[in-house]
Amino acid sequence: MWRNEGFGAGAGGQVRNERLGRLPPLPTLVLVLAAWACGEPGRTEWERRLRAHLETVPVVDCHEHIRPLQPDERPQNFYTIVAGSYLHADLVSAGAPPLDADVLQKSDPVQLWESHGRFLELTRQTTYYRHLLAGFRRLYDYPDDAFTPQGIDRLSDQIARRYADRDAWFAHAFRQAGFEVMFLDKHWDPWNPEVDTRYFRPVFNITALVTSISRRSALAASAGNNPFTMAAGRGDDLRELGSYLRSAEDLLQQFQAAGAVAIKNTLAYSRTLRFEEVTRERAETLFRRDDLSPPEVRELEDFLVHWLIERSIAADLPIQIHTGYLASNRLRLDQTDPMLLNNLFIRYPRARFVLFHGGYPWTSQVTALAKMFPNVHLDLVWLPQITKSKAMAALDEMLDTVPYNKLFWGGDCHYIEESVGSLEVARDVVAATLAARIARGDLSESLAREIATAIFWENARRFFGLTAGDESPDG
Ligand SMILES: [Zn+2]
Repeated sequence: MWRNEGFGAGAGGQVRNERLGRLPPLPTLVLVLAAWACGEPGRTEWERRLRAHLETVPVVDCHEHIRPLQPDERPQNFYTIVAGSYLHADLVSAGAPPLDADVLQKSDPVQLWESHGRFLELTRQTTYYRHLLAGFRRLYDYPDDAFTPQGIDRLSDQIARRYADRDAWFAHAFRQAGFEVMFLDKHWDPWNPEVDTRYFRPVFNITALVTSISRRSALAASAGNNPFTMAAGRGDDLRELGSYLRSAEDLLQQFQAAGAVAIKNTLAYSRTLRFEEVTRERAETLFRRDDLSPPEVRELEDFLVHWLIERSIAADLPIQIHTGYLASNRLRLDQTDPMLLNNLFIRYPRARFVLFHGGYPWTSQVTALAKMFPNVHLDLVWLPQITKSKAMAALDEMLDTVPYNKLFWGGDCHYIEESVGSLEVARDVVAATLAARIARGDLSESLAREIATAIFWENARRFFGLTAGDESPDG
């Protein structure tokens, strides 16, 4: 049965299309024509209405890397933001030289267009390009549908003015786009849980903790804070595994005291996502040695990952896990298949796992895992920027298979401009996917609105235990 609520059928009404056969239902045709008439070709009326609804939904952004203002921060312009954005990877993939600090410092805008302009033009259709453009269009009223030398000059002037008071600019952009809170993964400062609580909640990224376990000699001698210097400060024996685990426990408690909402595992960037079970006895033996082979290092890391999952259960903290495609250009994609995590979901039914990025390109695999396991959830984070079309197809498949309380969204960016662009594309993806389901007769408009609200706001608030101001924006 084809069912439509809230548009063209009257309040609570139903419309049947059995007699229309293979033709699109009449309301769909009317809506498409209406969309053309109102100047949004390609966007149906349902899509436009859902998109407008999403503008009213506050956003719990479950993953960001926005850096705080640095005292020695260089002046920002269009190219510095591109260098810190995902688009940079597409430029390099097209053949461009990296926009490193040296190039950015030594080149003027004319030289940068000469060296990188043609690569920008080759990426005009990628979602990395399109989402960054969407961010500039929303925040800077950028008028064009592509970056041009003149447009870039104007943008750079605007960016310099905004970043003269970065705190005020960030606050404005954050509110203007509709963010309520962002979960901040400070991978560059992994032992420090402090965040600006006006905007952020901390996430405990365990990657450095796990990869440091086999680096005693280098880290114990360093001046900075790390698990070995923490253990030395307590007077612990650095050759005993227990000393390292006490530091890990201390860090976990520091993050919880600072309001951490989750543990984050980004180990896919440096190793396989297969984590085998290793006994404590074996781990203690390995920990005392300084001459570990790569497979032995992996065993030690595996032990710690299992230990941390057990601790996450006791602390009631969800575990966010990077799966699939990796940022940057030359890494081991084959090690990031979400199916490699299957043993953990069986072994730890009380742990709460959140798989990131739709596991791209393994979107069906993460979907099947979330369908099968009550303790596996899906965060669409970054997927809409990697590929808008696959994000829509993946979300459609997820909605076919997975209860919608298990879906979240995040941006995964270093600059607010890109976070806002990311949100723009994600709202487009969710609105278009839900609108297509309404048009097919698979969803009512009222349920589509509920699902949209759940993905961007309600699910994360409930799942991650955010408490203040619980009134639904639909209410
Ligand atoms: Zn990230």
